[in-house]
Amino acid sequence: MSRWFSERFAALAPYTPGEQPQDRQYIKLNTNESPFPPPPAVAAAAAKEAGRLALYSDPECAALRNKMAALYGLAPENIMMTNGSDEALNLAFMAFADETRPLIFPDITYGFYRVFAQVNRIPFTEIPLRDDFSVDERDYLVRGRTIVLANPNAPTGLSLPLPAIERIAAYSRDNIVIVDEAYVDFGGESAVRLLERYDNLIVTGTFSKSRSLAGARLGFAFASPALIADMNTLRYSTNPYNVNRMTAAAGIAALENNDYFMNNCRLIRETREWTRRALEAERFTVLASEANFLFAADKRIPGKTLYEELKRRGVLIRHFDGPRIREYNRITIGTREQMEVFMTKIREILGGI
Ligand code: PMP
Repeated sequence: MSRWFSERFAALAPYTPGEQPQDRQYIKLNTNESPFPPPPAVAAAAAKEAGRLALYSDPECAALRNKMAALYGLAPENIMMTNGSDEALNLAFMAFADETRPLIFPDITYGFYRVFAQVNRIPFTEIPLRDDFSVDERDYLVRGRTIVLANPNAPTGLSLPLPAIERIAAYSRDNIVIVDEAYVDFGGESAVRLLERYDNLIVTGTFSKSRSLAGARLGFAFASPALIADMNTLRYSTNPYNVNRMTAAAGIAALENNDYFMNNCRLIRETREWTRRALEAERFTVLASEANFLFAADKRIPGKTLYEELKRRGVLIRHFDGPRIREYNRITIGTREQMEVFMTKIREILGGI
């Protein structure tokens, strides 16, 4: 830390992104990206827009928001497009949480929540998941809090049913409830239909996972027009051109090819179930994930050792060193061929201990 770094951030522990190795080719099952490339029409739309990069992008993202509105059955005023859903979450935290409405979220969830809370100096409480890693909805039937739930949760992959989300939003209409649906296209149930009845609800989503655009950085928030307007006040106060031209064009083309992506989601779900059965046959404990990853542990081998042994063999998965989860690893679902290689390496490692 230099002597000029603001005291305000002296204790900040930044988010640690998953490895993005540039040195060797791995089978990359560590950051929940899609194993499928975007279709040629998406690449072509982005390439075409490259010729216009001298001009700023549309800060309203109007064309893309119109397409999103049509697909999700919302009005454009219900939608804000962002630079990845990380930005949507950060803006929602900034706008709707403070000392008077501190944040609550599970102790085991997306690691960025605590970082966004810290960087914005918002007090937060981490609520322990049950022993089986499920969320107890009763913990969120509270007043005077801003609630954040990833649904499905990460890194567990477990979902809360929609009626539970509704009861949480209904319990206190004065609480803002942020539902992070980064993984919803892989099997969960979206809360988007609740938006017309709950003006205290924010649903965030991303093109990074189900729509193969992690590198383009495109996310969104859905909420009542009033909440969207508040978040836009902050977006215009920080980075109005947050979605660049090539990404906006890629996003529009992606929505025009939505069936391609939804079909990929179906393939990933099938491969997830195949991988789950294969891991269970090797006596792994595997949580009932509805996301594009599995969270799994095996008593015979420490989580970190398994991660390291797989890495040596050219397969990257994600290990988190948290107290309750260090025996587990998060395994992104790749293509069937990639998962077959993964299982071969798993058997090789377990055979050698
Ligand atoms: N929410 C969750 C639960 C995630 O796992 C991720 C991916 N790291 C994100 C949000 C943010 O993804 P992005 O910024 O790429 O949309």
